[in-house]
Amino acid sequence: MSNQNSIYQDALNRLRQMGEDAGTSPEVVDSLMHAETVVTASLPVRMDDGAMRYFTGYRCHYNSVLGPTKGGIRFHPQVNQQEVQALALWMTIKCAIAGLPYGGAKGGVEVDPKNLSPMELERLSRAYVRAMADFIGPDIDIPAPDVYTNARIMGWMMDEYKTIKRQHAPAVITGKPISLGGSLGRDEATGRGAYLCIREMAARLGWVPAEIRVAIQGLGNAGYHVARLLQKDGYRIVAISDSKGGIYSKDGFDIESIWRQKIKVRQVQAVYCEHTVCELVEHQKISNTELLELDVDLLIPAALEGVITTENAPNIKAMHIAEVANGPILCEAENILLEQGKLILPDVLTNAGGVIVSYFEWVQNRSGYSWTLEEIRARLEEIIIKAFNEVWHTSMHEERSLRSAAYTMALRRIGDAVAAHGTREYFNNGQ
Ligand code: GLU
Repeated sequence: MSNQNSIYQDALNRLRQMGEDAGTSPEVVDSLMHAETVVTASLPVRMDDGAMRYFTGYRCHYNSVLGPTKGGIRFHPQVNQQEVQALALWMTIKCAIAGLPYGGAKGGVEVDPKNLSPMELERLSRAYVRAMADFIGPDIDIPAPDVYTNARIMGWMMDEYKTIKRQHAPAVITGKPISLGGSLGRDEATGRGAYLCIREMAARLGWVPAEIRVAIQGLGNAGYHVARLLQKDGYRIVAISDSKGGIYSKDGFDIESIWRQKIKVRQVQAVYCEHTVCELVEHQKISNTELLELDVDLLIPAALEGVITTENAPNIKAMHIAEVANGPILCEAENILLEQGKLILPDVLTNAGGVIVSYFEWVQNRSGYSWTLEEIRARLEEIIIKAFNEVWHTSMHEERSLRSAAYTMALRRIGDAVAAHGTREYFNNGQ
């Protein structure tokens, strides 16, 4: 992963560029050039062998002008303050695009959770909440899952918060297990939202799914659901990978088989399964770098940020890219891709399904009334398609990239809220 340390700077450069495109007042853009609060904490965890280890945890409240801040917590060895701030800025933009009553936040712990036992993972999750308990809350900042965190971890975190505050507060965190106040449809939400955006784009481009070759980098929760839904519509998923590498077959793979095997052996393997019997299918092993440069119609980066840089951008062959990961394409790399006429569905719209259903979970927790899966899917579809239509319309009519159109929408909403408090013009001229 190159440029990791400058990812926040890259996000700020993009924000400036997008602000200029949108004609946003410098006062609004300036308000987004700084994080409101960043907390760094040392998290002491007793390991199974009796030793004490100290992990570094972060939580960033980026901007709260539209409401309490919202965003996931990631457990990953590359987590650092710059990364957390970049991700929190993108959450601010994402929540504004979806029209949610939230600002943006993000958190993380620098750890490789694959090296922890289940009990060490639980202690770390609880230690994170002990350190952050005063900075989170249903009306302050609401965490959720992100890379390498899941519903069980959210459940532990909610429980720790309850112990500290001595009261039930399920709305403090989203993405919980259903039995602990989680929402139906939250697990598939990021993938489903991305699928809906791709479906809308496909309708406008007149795509015939069977003719479309798709490569997906990253078979995590979001990658799996988007792959599964696309395959159901007849798309050919010709390549898929995880952190260890990928597989390619021009005929396409059966995603359910690969997912089931991945859960069992913790690795992407080219299998086809009938019930419990899995057989290896013909394929080629590829690296993650090779996957990104495959000759396919649709490329879906669904792993980490910064994977498409100015170095590999000229080698990308896919004419359509749907960003399911946060920030997979660096700012300058995107300019290269756009010059080549590529269409990029931006992360802040494409992966917003996750936080939209998180919002539904928060609303259900606060009202004490739960919705059906059908209701959740219908409401998700309504919100994301409305956002998609507006972004697409602005992009086509004003001849700007989809990201530029998406940022315009977000900056307008944030700008309206900033202006409601009074701007320089107002205070200077008394208007
Ligand atoms: N971590 C997810 C994201 O990056 C979801 C955040 C949330 O549900 O609050 O959008």
